[in-house]
Amino acid sequence: MTFPVDTLGRPIHDLRISVTDRCNFRCTYCMPKEIFGRDYEFLAREQLLSFEEIERVSRVFVRAGARKIRLTGGEPLLRKDLEHLISLLSAIPDVEDLTLTTNGSLLARKAEALKAAGLNRVTVSLDSMDDTVFMAMNDVGFPVQKVLDGIEAAAAAGLSPIKINMVVKRGMNEDSVVDVAEHFRGTAHVVRFIEYMDVGTTNGWRLDDVVPGREIVEMINARFPLEPVDPDYRGEVAQRYRYRDGSGEVGVITSVTQPFCGDCTRVRLSAEGQVYTCLFASQGTDLRAPLREGASDGELDAAIAALWIRRGDRYSEIRTSQTVSIKRKVEMSYIGG
Ligand code: SAM
Repeated sequence: MTFPVDTLGRPIHDLRISVTDRCNFRCTYCMPKEIFGRDYEFLAREQLLSFEEIERVSRVFVRAGARKIRLTGGEPLLRKDLEHLISLLSAIPDVEDLTLTTNGSLLARKAEALKAAGLNRVTVSLDSMDDTVFMAMNDVGFPVQKVLDGIEAAAAAGLSPIKINMVVKRGMNEDSVVDVAEHFRGTAHVVRFIEYMDVGTTNGWRLDDVVPGREIVEMINARFPLEPVDPDYRGEVAQRYRYRDGSGEVGVITSVTQPFCGDCTRVRLSAEGQVYTCLFASQGTDLRAPLREGASDGELDAAIAALWIRRGDRYSEIRTSQTVSIKRKVEMSYIGG
């Protein structure tokens, strides 16, 4: 079987599905309260793809080469009966990795059911070990310990290897980098430190707020010596490092200071069925209309192939102060992180 490749020779490997644009956190760098307040209009229920529609689209992408599916959002665990969707997706042949990114707030309650439905593993976001810092970032007063309880429940349920995502923002939580590394050192969990990105247009991003991955590695290395590890596969987003004393591994995601578009094999499906070929896109391609108008599998396959072979996105490599400020990019909470 031949799979489509884009204009830069990149195949589809990784499908990210946003199952909701809603979240119970208001992280200041992602869904600032001033914008995502009471009056904000989230998608209505009938606008969301049903689980059956998501399954059908996933099968199209798997036929086009996708082997990894990640559920995200918004907060994916807010979507009712998510286990049912997981059981549908886990039954698709050729899906080698079915995973989910969550803020961890509902994980303690749901970990076992998610595993039983066929989820392989989880990535949990946690931006500090310090309650004051973490609460200032999530902006809803959510304590660190509850996220740690979720991580523990996920590990107990066998949703591993677990990854921990920490977004690092200058002046907010850079002092938490070494603490977070230290907390998870010696566990099997891998922390990935993420450069604060200019996704969307509501978080007031400035280059000065980015703590470069190089600096993050230096901070950790000064305390716990590190050495680089080779990537696992083409398109892996994190640069990997292991502790020289054998107590595990960390990653840094340097999409601002060392963009990796050349290897980007990700495609994103929004909760209402728009396909985006880049996290920084301003426009998607609608699949919900053809789905609801009775398109055949062959027609959907052709639509995705046609979209992918035209793809030439490499936003992060051509980012300038102009692209940052002018483009109308979609929000991360909508497109899915
Ligand atoms: N609610 C889930 C969660 O918190 O993990 C999934 C969605 S969230 C948008 C996915 C990831 O994107 C989180 O790890 C979050 O910290 C990260 N993120 C959000 N805005 C970001 C930004 N501006 N730069 C870098 N990472 C960001």
